[in-house]
Amino acid sequence: MLEKAVKKNKVNIRNLYVQLLNKERVQFANVVWSNLAIPKHRFVLWQATLGNLLTRDNLVHCHLKLDSVMCPTCDLQQESHCHLYFNCQFSRQVRDRVAAWLGNDVWPIQFEEWSSWMIGKPKGLKQKMAATALAASVYLIWWNRNSCLFNFCSMTVDRFDHWLKFYLKARIARLPRTKLKSKDIAFIEKLILM
Ligand SMILES: [Zn+2]
Repeated sequence: MLEKAVKKNKVNIRNLYVQLLNKERVQFANVVWSNLAIPKHRFVLWQATLGNLLTRDNLVHCHLKLDSVMCPTCDLQQESHCHLYFNCQFSRQVRDRVAAWLGNDVWPIQFEEWSSWMIGKPKGLKQKMAATALAASVYLIWWNRNSCLFNFCSMTVDRFDHWLKFYLKARIARLPRTKLKSKDIAFIEKLILM
């Protein structure tokens, strides 16, 4: 074990810690933890992908008594990760906006396919942009859900669109143009103009 944590006669503490954990690396970790996405967006995407957000179905599983198990955003169906991100009216409208901007392949088809969808994404800037857009969308939908629950106020789809583009364009601006391929520069310049 120690041999794997030693490089050039120096012990890498991070590698040693990972060895001690003795756990396999989750295959879609690289996509979720893409450094192009905003850290708090990555965290919420990670929790959502693992089904760990405190949606009402999860709270019921923890034997908490709730006034309602319905979705705080639409109040039409029981809340779960599957409903919140794939079946809720708000998410469906949001998904259409994201697809119109970035294409249909930015959003997985259903919750159960989320992790395999991420594993199957091609590497490169487009993959990072898709992951960044998904992370920002998942964060904004969760933020809006909490706003509906605690402030009784939902953002409009236009407002969602505004914030998603704001976040992505801010992250695009951080990319070092001199290190990008010409096709990647053309890709991000097209996104900025949309
Ligand atoms: Zn809903």
